[in-house]
Amino acid sequence: MTNIKENLDKINRQILETAKACDRSSDAVKLIAVSKRKSVQKIKDAIEAGAGHFGENYIQEAVEKIDIIADESITWHFIGHLQSNKAKFAVKYFEYIHTVDNVKLAKEINKQAKKNNKIQKIMLQINIGEELTKSGARVENAIDLVKQIHGFENLSIEGLMCMPPFFDDPEEARSYFRQLVQIKEKIMDENFDTVSMCHLSMGMSSDFKVAIEEGSTMVRVGTSIFGSRD
Ligand SMILES: *Cc1c(COP(=O)(O)O)cnc(C)c1O
Repeated sequence: MTNIKENLDKINRQILETAKACDRSSDAVKLIAVSKRKSVQKIKDAIEAGAGHFGENYIQEAVEKIDIIADESITWHFIGHLQSNKAKFAVKYFEYIHTVDNVKLAKEINKQAKKNNKIQKIMLQINIGEELTKSGARVENAIDLVKQIHGFENLSIEGLMCMPPFFDDPEEARSYFRQLVQIKEKIMDENFDTVSMCHLSMGMSSDFKVAIEEGSTMVRVGTSIFGSRD
């Protein structure tokens, strides 16, 4: 049996130690517990153990679970690939959408947010490893994407998200995290309004410590909290 509380305590301790070691404040990094394909009971166990942020990847699965859990104190993050025709659910159920990577999707999210009287917090997913199998805007298109969507009134562009290629040695992810920071700085240099760029969503079970050292403000950890997904 996976001991969710033990795992959460351990990860939280590691986050604090890593942040402290690189002179970052203890509340600079949010832990997002990635609960895709995990049961409502396991999510409730994690809430009981103190988790307040959860990440889900699949709209239908997420909507069902969020409705059952019905806990207003939880912050839900959408971290999966999002199709425009599901944007209305993402807007209705999620405080943050981490995976905006094209203008059409941004436009639809903006439209749905307007309908819901909401300013939707979004992050732009960048395909930092230029991998064909992964979603995300191309690195060289990142600024252009911001240029095209920063005027959308019901979006708040909060930062960038990436998923580097998987390596056995987390050190190998470091250069990708650095690259995401550079893209963020380039975007900030443009001084767009409505673009806060205060967040970097990077780091998973295998590499979250390296990601924190490179400036991550949101780590998305699944396996190390809930056990493997089979
Ligand atoms: C599944 C997933 C995670 C969590 O990965 P783990 O290796 O289980 O920690 C993080 N981010 C995204 C986008 C995911 O799809």
